[in-house]
Amino acid sequence: MNPDEAKAMILDIGQRMYSKEWVASNDGNISVKLDADRVLVTPTRQSKGYMTAGMLSIVDRQGHVLEGTYQPTSELKMHLKIYEMRPDVNAVVHAHPPFATSFAVAGIPLDRYILAEAVFELGKVPIAPYATPSTDELTDSFVDLLSEHDCFLLKNHGATTMGIDLMTAYYKMESLEHLAKIMNYASSLGKMDEIPQDKVRVLEGMRQKYGIHGRQPKSTV
Ligand SMILES: [Zn+2]
Repeated sequence: MNPDEAKAMILDIGQRMYSKEWVASNDGNISVKLDADRVLVTPTRQSKGYMTAGMLSIVDRQGHVLEGTYQPTSELKMHLKIYEMRPDVNAVVHAHPPFATSFAVAGIPLDRYILAEAVFELGKVPIAPYATPSTDELTDSFVDLLSEHDCFLLKNHGATTMGIDLMTAYYKMESLEHLAKIMNYASSLGKMDEIPQDKVRVLEGMRQKYGIHGRQPKSTV
């Protein structure tokens, strides 16, 4: 991806995340692969709502800074592990959206088939066990989920989404937070009807037709 275009898009996504209150203070991080060897990443300890292009860094796949004066995100290991395990992924978004994070705190995965679009885009969204942010423990916590999922919650922490490009990764976070919000509201009504299983399979069958990239677990019932 062209570095200037990638920088502009990351700044835009950072502003959207901040204005949606998916991140407080300096939380959250975003990255995109520029090519096979270089990754553009957001800085640590800077608000994602007020970033400038000069705050972004280019690192190699081992995390060495190739370009930039700001220290890359403390969650760089998470991003690099995802790129290592999933060659089909070109962008990663990590945030703490309040509804999704509430489910991560409660230990309730987003695993009910209640919205057609969510079945289509996300499938079930699991929770990785709690791990200290920025450590190898954190990358170990989600690595088993990557074979089947493009989106997961991090226990007592937040959510991570990935995709073939930046907007796909960002939109998955938007879909995930929307699903969590509706699950929360439906729970407060005391009743949550799921889409019938045979209709879930119809939705799963439509993913390929509509060019939905990435991995979503198939329903098993
Ligand atoms: Zn975080």
